[in-house]
Amino acid sequence: MRRAGGLAAASALAGCADTMPTEQTAPPGKPTDRPPSGSVALSGGQAFLDGRFAPATVIIDGDRIGAVGPDIEVPGGLQRLDCTALWLIPGFIDTHVHVQFSAPDAILAGGVTTVRDLGSPPSQGLALAAGPSPLRVVAAGRILTPVGGYPTTSWGSDSTGREVRDAEDAVDAVREQATGGACIIKVALEPAAGPVFDEGLLRAVVEAAHAEDLAVTAHVGSAPLLELAIATGVDELAHLPLHDVTETEMAGAAEAGMVLVPTLEIRGSDPNALRAVAAFREADGTVVYGTDLGNGGTAPGIETTELRAMLGTGMAAAEVLEAATATAADHLGLDDVGRLRIGASADIVALGADPLQDPAGYDDVRLVMARGRRVLDRL
Ligand SMILES: [Zn+2]
Repeated sequence: MRRAGGLAAASALAGCADTMPTEQTAPPGKPTDRPPSGSVALSGGQAFLDGRFAPATVIIDGDRIGAVGPDIEVPGGLQRLDCTALWLIPGFIDTHVHVQFSAPDAILAGGVTTVRDLGSPPSQGLALAAGPSPLRVVAAGRILTPVGGYPTTSWGSDSTGREVRDAEDAVDAVREQATGGACIIKVALEPAAGPVFDEGLLRAVVEAAHAEDLAVTAHVGSAPLLELAIATGVDELAHLPLHDVTETEMAGAAEAGMVLVPTLEIRGSDPNALRAVAAFREADGTVVYGTDLGNGGTAPGIETTELRAMLGTGMAAAEVLEAATATAADHLGLDDVGRLRIGASADIVALGADPLQDPAGYDDVRLVMARGRRVLDRL
């Protein structure tokens, strides 16, 4: 069963890009005023359409896809980019990053054109979301946690964490993020690094978020806290719970309608983690791609280590690619990214090898186009 909260939140997310505040300070990173590439045809390649690769031409019209398909007539005089022996995919969507630890240009150059920041100071994720960078950013804002809770006494002491004192303050804390342009509310439930929300206060946070039409994603540090998250209506798991969790518990999360961002790379190749994700999927849970960029050894760009781990859970290669494109876009409520289709944002990556045959293909990035701008060109 899927709760209404998630659906309501999805519609709020869909409007996020249109409701960004404009009075924020300039974002970090390197905004670009380079114009879109204009009209250009990507011809001769294989494009990922409806879950599989097929020969197709893609015509870019400014910052949009103007046409895509197998029998597209390329107007005379239109610039052509020869994509023979290349595989064209939608720009990747990483649903779990911390943008303050990476340069937007490095993320883009690695084939990721949309990110969701799940916790950073207001001058970082929310500011980037409102800014002009070709990297599309949606953001949670600050991480809500009890007084002294994770991550306020560790890496998040720079105002990434927002301490919540009581139920009244929960409403204020959620409203602060919503007013700043947040597309989701992030909570931390990490017993290894400070106090965690009790049921009453967590419920107050979730209810305040849902009242703002925002979903709630949780960093969950233990199996009992997963039960608490389910009981209080949390919509999403920002990681596989970081400590031992059973297959039955993960199936329960799926049955409660939660969406899972597994971030398996930070777990290493733990077979228990792979089994837990498999159980979540077998219970019809939706899995979307996210790396927790900024945490440990993850690198900006498409992370093949994460993709190989997702394959290790039993996902098909095309399902894994969709988890980072169409499925992720649907989950975020972003209808103009994640698919190569007419009218979509011209966010396209050309690879030098078929990534469905071997995920190593994702490391062979030849071209990255973001909102029609060629941000990497090795053609
Ligand atoms: Zn994170």
